[in-house]
Amino acid sequence: MCLFCQIVNKKIPANIVAENNEFLAFHDINPKAPVHILAIPKKHIDSFIEVAPESMSHMTTFIQDIAKEVKIEKSGYRVITNVGEHGGQEVKHLHFHILGGSKLTWEEFSNADHKNNL
Ligand code: 5GP
Ligand code: ZN
Repeated sequence: MCLFCQIVNKKIPANIVAENNEFLAFHDINPKAPVHILAIPKKHIDSFIEVAPESMSHMTTFIQDIAKEVKIEKSGYRVITNVGEHGGQEVKHLHFHILGGSKLTWEEFSNADHKNNL
């Protein structure tokens, strides 16, 4: 069973923010922003590549509700899903990072060589 499936099954503790039949949200153990929450489907899906588009509408509502619950919906926030090796995905269970609580930058991306795409 993968790490996040173990959190879903309460075999590993997590600081849970919200939960319903389909999804679970909990605080990231190594926060990269003042607010850093992970939103996951309870059903194991490896990554964004495999996700069924129809399930995304429910995930969207879930993420919007979490932002309201932790009061970052007005100040703004970032939603990220890392996909595969180049995306830097470490946990192979689909998850959306919800980051906020301060002004975020694009620092990590500032050195990207994008000239071939222009
Ligand atoms: P990824 O790099 O796969 O997009 O993100 C995985 C995230 O899961 C990382 O931000 C990491 O800090 C978080 N994480 C890894 N293990 C645990 C854990 O056991 N508990 C919680 N709450 N977060 C975890
Ligand atoms: Zn899993």
